[in-house]
Amino acid sequence: MCVKWIQMEVRTNSRTELIDITNRIFEEITGTGIQNGTCFLYTQHTTAGLTINENADPDVARDILTGLARLVPMTGDYRHAEGNSDAHIKASLMGFSLTVPVINGRLALGTWQGIYFCEFDGPRNRHVLLGITGG
Ligand code: ZN
Repeated sequence: MCVKWIQMEVRTNSRTELIDITNRIFEEITGTGIQNGTCFLYTQHTTAGLTINENADPDVARDILTGLARLVPMTGDYRHAEGNSDAHIKASLMGFSLTVPVINGRLALGTWQGIYFCEFDGPRNRHVLLGITGG
C-alpha cells in the first residue's frame, strides 16, 4: 500500500468563503496513478475547515455561509482577544478533515457532491494536506 502526502495551497479571497477544490483534488489523485484506495484531507488551521456538499447550485454554498453567520454572529459574548471567535466556532462546526473513497481513479462522490475548503477568517494563503493511499 502506497501513501502519498501532498500539500495543496488554497488562496482565499474574502473573510468567509466556500471554495470548491474538488477538481484540484481529482487532478492530484490522477497524478499519483492510484486507482483504488482512500483520499484523506486535512487542514491545519483553526479558522478554516473542510466540508462536502452540493456544488451544482452555487446558491447552496452561499446559503451555508449565511446560515452559519446566523448561527454564529461575528460579535457576541466572546472572550478571545483576537476578535475572530466566530471563525473558530464555524471552523469547528465544519471540521478539519474528510475521507473520500477513490474508486477506479475517481473520487467516489455523489452526483451533487463537491469538496469545499471553508474560509472563515480570510483572505489568507491556506493549506490542505492531501493523503492518498491505495494502489
Ligand atoms: Zn483567533
